[in-house]
Amino acid sequence: MTVKALIRFSGWWLIAIVALPLFWLVNVFFESQDHHVYVQSAEASEVYAHVVFGHRSLASGLAHYVEHLAWLNTVGAKQRSANRHSNAWTNPYAVGYWLSGKPDELDDLLQTLSGLFEPLEVPAKFAAEEREIILREYEAHMVDKPDAQAAEAMSAFLYAGNNIASSVLGTPDDIRGFSYDDARALHAATHRPENATLVVTGGVTEREVSRALKTVDWPAKQSADAESQPPTFELAKPADTLLRYPEKEASARVILRHVAALPESIPFDLLEAHALLLADILNTNLAGGLAGPLRFDNAIARGFDVQAWPLDERHIELRFRAAPDRGVSLRAVQKAFRDTLAEISDTGIPDETYQRVLNRFEDFWPDWEDDDDAARWMADYTLERVAALRQPLPLSDVKRLEQQLSHQRINTLLNTIAGNGRTAVAFIGPKERFE
Ligand SMILES: [Zn+2]
Repeated sequence: MTVKALIRFSGWWLIAIVALPLFWLVNVFFESQDHHVYVQSAEASEVYAHVVFGHRSLASGLAHYVEHLAWLNTVGAKQRSANRHSNAWTNPYAVGYWLSGKPDELDDLLQTLSGLFEPLEVPAKFAAEEREIILREYEAHMVDKPDAQAAEAMSAFLYAGNNIASSVLGTPDDIRGFSYDDARALHAATHRPENATLVVTGGVTEREVSRALKTVDWPAKQSADAESQPPTFELAKPADTLLRYPEKEASARVILRHVAALPESIPFDLLEAHALLLADILNTNLAGGLAGPLRFDNAIARGFDVQAWPLDERHIELRFRAAPDRGVSLRAVQKAFRDTLAEISDTGIPDETYQRVLNRFEDFWPDWEDDDDAARWMADYTLERVAALRQPLPLSDVKRLEQQLSHQRINTLLNTIAGNGRTAVAFIGPKERFE
C-alpha cells in the first residue's frame, strides 16, 4: 500500500494519498441502528467508500500487517497494485480502506469492501511476502530519515503507557517477527461490524447508500458497541528526554514536543480550534508571538514553526521546530523557546494580538455559503474524526465553533502548555551545533 508520512499534525500516521473528489451541494450525515454510517452527499461524478476499524493494538506494527493482509484477502494482489481507485492506511487508532468508482458502481464497491469482514485466508507464502513488502516500507520511511526516527522515539516517550505510544510501522525486528496467527487473531477481534464505520462521500444520496447496504447485505452490528467511547489519554508523570541525531551533512534543527494536562476538559472540537488559534498566535511577529523574541529581535532562530493539537478533551500537545541562526547552538534555541514561552504565559496574549489573529483565523473553516467548499471541508473533517475513532460533529455544531472561541481559554491553554508535562527534545544535524 502506498504509505505517506503525514501531513496535518504529528507526523506519525501512515496514511495513503487520497485524491480528493470535487463536491458541490449540501452534506448529509446519518448513523443508522444497524451500522455506523456517515454519508456526504454531493453532486459529483465519483463516489468514495471508506471503511474504518478501530484497532487499539499495543503490538508494534501488527495492525499495519493486518491492514496489508486484509486488503490482500479482499481485493487480491493484482488488483491492489494496479488499481488507482483503492488504498488502505493505518494510524495509531485505526485501520482504513477505501474504494472509489462511478455512482452506479456503489453496490460493487460495498460488495468488495464487505470482504473485509471475512476471515483471513491468505496463503502462507503471500503472508510471508507481505512482511518483506512492509520491510521495504520501513526502509523507505525510516532509514536515513532522522526526523521520522525522532518522531517515533518522541511519541514513545511522550505517550508512555498509552496505545498510541506504540509504533505504527514497528522496527525491522518487529516486522520479521509478525506471525500470521497473531494477525488473524487481531483481524478477527477488530474487523467486526460493531467496530466498523462506513463513510461514503460523493455523488450518492443517503437513500441510495441505504439501498446499497441492503442489496449487498452489509454486515449489521450483532451486539452493543464494545468500544464506542472515544479514546482517552493518560499522561505519565512529568519528565523530559533529549534525543540526539548527529548528521554531518544535515542542516541543524531542534524539535521540541510537549504534552500537558488541562485543568478541566474542553469539548474536543472546541479544544482543537483553540489549539490551532494559539499556534497561529505564537507563530506571529505580534506582541505575544515568538517571531519577535526568537527571530527579529535576538537572531536566535533563522526560522521556526509551532503547531498545537489536542490528544483528547484534557490533553494538548505542542510542537516547536526551529533552525538556529548563525553561531547559535540548538541548546540555546531550546532554552530561548522555553524562557520566551514562560514569559508570554505570565503576561498572557494581548487583546490586540488575539483580535488580529482571530480575524484571520476564520480561514480555518470553509466559506459556509459556498456549498462546494463546505462539502469538501466536511468530508475531510468527517474522515479525520472517524480515523481517530471520534464522532464528527453535525454541520450545525461545527458552524457554531467559531462563536465559541474565547481569549480567556487561549490564555488557559497557553498556561497549560508552558507548564508541567512531558517534554521530548530532538537535536538533529552536525553535532558541534548541539551545545
Ligand atoms: Zn503499508
